Amino acid sequence: PGTLAEFKDLHTYFYTEQGIVKSVNGVSFRIGEGETVALVGESGCGKSVTALSMMGLIEQPAGRIVGGEIIFDGENLLRDGGKPVHRLRGHEIAMIFQEPMSSLNPVLTIGEQLMEPLMEHLHLRKKEARAEAVEWIRKVGVPRAEQLVDAYPHELSGGMLQRIMIAIALCCRPKLLIADEPTTALDVTIQAQILDLLRTLRVETGMSILLITHDLGVVAEMADQVIVMYGGQVIEQAPVLPLFRNPQHPYTQGLLKSRPRLGQRVDRLYAIPGQVPSPIGLASICRFSDRCEYAMEICRTREPENRNTEKDHSVACWLYEEGSDIVRSVGASQR
Ligand code: SF4
Ligand code: MG
Repeated sequence: PGTLAEFKDLHTYFYTEQGIVKSVNGVSFRIGEGETVALVGESGCGKSVTALSMMGLIEQPAGRIVGGEIIFDGENLLRDGGKPVHRLRGHEIAMIFQEPMSSLNPVLTIGEQLMEPLMEHLHLRKKEARAEAVEWIRKVGVPRAEQLVDAYPHELSGGMLQRIMIAIALCCRPKLLIADEPTTALDVTIQAQILDLLRTLRVETGMSILLITHDLGVVAEMADQVIVMYGGQVIEQAPVLPLFRNPQHPYTQGLLKSRPRLGQRVDRLYAIPGQVPSPIGLASICRFSDRCEYAMEICRTREPENRNTEKDHSVACWLYEEGSDIVRSVGASQR
């Protein structure tokens, strides 16, 4: 598919009293038209900050995008101090969060919250916007749309609210939906329904999805491409099948070994000992070296770069340095 969006060497830092937190430290990947790209990793690896950078939602003044580009539809969103983001947000790029209650307005009805973007971005008149709002409530599978259009958020269940969030995000027909842990707060049955809904709407609208998740079960069901992040960097990326069949980075192998099912969170299952590195003052080493069973001398003195091992599969790990014998022995021990 053609490219819809591209992150190029993105750096987003937070300036704290303890030091500079390099939450996103040189992240590059692309999102194809109509593709679902999953950003995977433990809490604190930089997934959400990557997405928030695209949405222009990095909290100032502590947080700052200090380098790189985010291209969307041929335009660098970061130019002019991020002005293009403000034009496109909620319209061409929309986002849904884990907690619908925190992003819905408690004093406005469901209908009003749907009508607002329809009137602002699609310039519908009030009556048309209301009809369209009812239609969207129906489309996301919420019953009694005619009545619920006048209900307030507290009158709906968590699963219903998540559907309403999806309706609000999609009603202006965005080209890209960013979904940050969209089902983590929901019980397993509702999760599966919401994922089904997202898949159906993706096919219907042709939108791309940037899916942020801990949950490899969700990745397996939803993603075309997988980007694995660790310590603010991309350490492996591949289409979903090669990544699950032949994970190359020791971290990815560890994530997959825990074989989580739908609804389980990787950060609770994760079996590799040790902690996610503090992103303060990291030296140029492999960030995974103190948790890696294959760590070598070079891992603690030089940072591995992403290199292609297959056409669409790249990994940042010294084991895959060209001509390395270690590659073969690790590969063999996998089988
Ligand atoms: Fe392990 Fe070295 Fe690869 Fe890092 S570069 S993941 S320490 S083998
Ligand atoms: Mg997060």
